[in-house]
Amino acid sequence: MAARTVLQHADITRALTRIAHEILESNRGAADLVILGIPTRGVALARRIAQNISSIEAVPFGVGSIDVTLYRDDLASQPTRVPAPTDIPAEGIDGKTVVLVDDVLFSGRTVRAALDALSDHGRPRAVRLAALVDRGHRELPIRADFIGKNLPTSKSERIMVRLEETDGIDEVVIES
Ligand code: 5GP
Ligand code: MG
Repeated sequence: MAARTVLQHADITRALTRIAHEILESNRGAADLVILGIPTRGVALARRIAQNISSIEAVPFGVGSIDVTLYRDDLASQPTRVPAPTDIPAEGIDGKTVVLVDDVLFSGRTVRAALDALSDHGRPRAVRLAALVDRGHRELPIRADFIGKNLPTSKSERIMVRLEETDGIDEVVIES
């Protein structure tokens, strides 16, 4: 198996700093913002982006997570999946701009499930999507608004996203 490192710690840090600025620019500040990570690694990324936003703007905003396990369209074929925590900030999502955060965007089915899950919690003013890696191969009309890195892949390749919070190291590696 061949492995190629495409992002190192400093690259990931820079990408997440840029994404924080892009979110603030498009939302014209942090007011009415809710950043929600999709477990597992999307939650760590959401927290980092939120930290970056906090260091730029002194306006409070929401940070949390949204689990999509029970909303997946492949739940029947993968019944052993264990749900992860959903943690919607107390102020809720009604009328807010929600930014969903995930580590890798692939078919788009996880994001579709996240939109479905979100609708159980309220009606955001807008929903945006941030992904550390967009590896292509979408099966649904979904795109990311904020992308760390576009990595065109073949379907057989696998992107390993490792983060300090979950894996003890920050790196993105393509395995083929
Ligand atoms: P999708 O639902 O868009 O097909 O896949 C996205 C979800 O599956 C994300 O939550 C992501 O964590 C995971 N995923 C899909 N492909 C990859 C990949 O190549 N590497 C990693 N690390 N996760 C992937
Ligand atoms: Mg995932």
